[in-house]
Amino acid sequence: MPWMAIKTGVIGEDGQETILREYLCDWPGCAHIAEQVVGVARELALARAVCREHAEIQNRAPDPDQPARR
Ligand SMILES: [Zn+2]
Repeated sequence: MPWMAIKTGVIGEDGQETILREYLCDWPGCAHIAEQVVGVARELALARAVCREHAEIQNRAPDPDQPARR
């Protein structure tokens, strides 16, 4: 999972700029901040962090690389 550091521009009491560190969504091509960790293959102990939008899709289509055919 790629890390993303967000500089807030807010100086804390210790004189250091507050930096938020977030995961980027693991969904292919998505650059949103991951908000949820979803299990992909529990038997393989794999999980991915995705944004809220893709977390909902993940619940419907377990594998984004192989979308369900209609
Ligand atoms: Zn996403």
